[in-house]
Amino acid sequence: MPAVVPALIAEAPGAALTRGTIERRDLGPHDVLVDIAFSGICHSDIHQVRVEWGSGIFPMVPGHEIAGVVAAVGAEVTRFAVGDRAGVGVYVDSCRECENCRAGNSQYCLKGNVSTYNALDYSGEPTYGGYSTQIVVDENYVLRIPQALPLDVAAPLLCAGITTYSPLKHWNVGPGTRVAIVGMGGLGHLAVKLAHALGAEVTVLSHSLAKKDDGLRFGADHYYATSDPDTFRTLANSFDLILNTVSADVDLQALLGLLTLDGALVFVGLPENEQRFNVFWLTAGRRSIAGSNIGSIGETQEMLDFCAEHGIGAEVETIGADEVDAAYDRVVASAVRYRFVIDASTIPAR
Ligand code: NAP
Ligand code: ZN
Ligand code: ZN
Repeated sequence: MPAVVPALIAEAPGAALTRGTIERRDLGPHDVLVDIAFSGICHSDIHQVRVEWGSGIFPMVPGHEIAGVVAAVGAEVTRFAVGDRAGVGVYVDSCRECENCRAGNSQYCLKGNVSTYNALDYSGEPTYGGYSTQIVVDENYVLRIPQALPLDVAAPLLCAGITTYSPLKHWNVGPGTRVAIVGMGGLGHLAVKLAHALGAEVTVLSHSLAKKDDGLRFGADHYYATSDPDTFRTLANSFDLILNTVSADVDLQALLGLLTLDGALVFVGLPENEQRFNVFWLTAGRRSIAGSNIGSIGETQEMLDFCAEHGIGAEVETIGADEVDAAYDRVVASAVRYRFVIDASTIPAR
């Protein structure tokens, strides 16, 4: 019999999150049951509940920044034992056979990996995410959370952390690299910490200077407001890599003008609208525009270990189940410092 577990559910597009129950499958031989302690609120949760990327599957239980403790393991599980600290990120399965999966890039699975929520698994069952008290996941898609990382500050690493770590590594960020992080929200604040820990010279481009002190505390060397036109004159041709974490439209051409020869503007932010630019802004400096999607399971483990070694966690505001809708509005208003995490013990009906 599948287990019935409490969850926070959006019944329809844009609906408030209400308490209810969902079913989790019986433990298969390779499955791990995780007791969820904390679940981060990613801006992608809001995009999906509000159907800003097209259609969605409802009822929806969002949440793909999951940290907890293993409560049970299937008969053939070898990598986890009851009591282990465990994390689950943005996807919970992939085909394991395609060229990208075989090369260790299952985040780009050609069959399409199975998202942690708002998806159908390969047997056609809907997936439900981390705003819940328990989740069942194949052990190959479960991460180890190092002892040095408290579970609340670790949860956001499972999406925001890996989404920024992966492109920083792919574009070889290290000592001597000049990196700009655009937008200092959930992703952006971790990008600043990670790029600093990798040894880069880090600049934040935020829409105002309101979070400047925090940015410098997270490891930024410089902090500028994009609302100030002088910023774009002062910083012309000065970055090797610009990582754009903004959830809304950006002035692409203004950002391209800040890249050095061969510099890259990499999108991780996923605005709802098309973004436009004139190609001359690329050819003028052999510049490129690219995008990056989360990171592989292997790279996520590497990132968690890197964070443990460097003492990096998310800055979190812990909330209860009743506060999630208000939290969504605060995220959209850029008024979160810097990631909400839901305390899963508040999800069951009282
Ligand atoms: P977030 O916490 O809301 O941060 C986004 C930041 O963008 C804000 O803090 C703000 O920074 C800036 N911003 C927001 N609205 C803006 C506006 N109207 N004009 C200018 N700047 C604005 O969101 P998040 O959770 O970090 O996610 C950011 C984006 O990444 C979302 O679109 C999300 O869906 C996407 N995402 C992508 C991946 C991937 O794999 N590619 C993974 C996770 C998330 P300032 O106040 O500093 O300007
Ligand atoms: Zn996310
Ligand atoms: Zn695949």
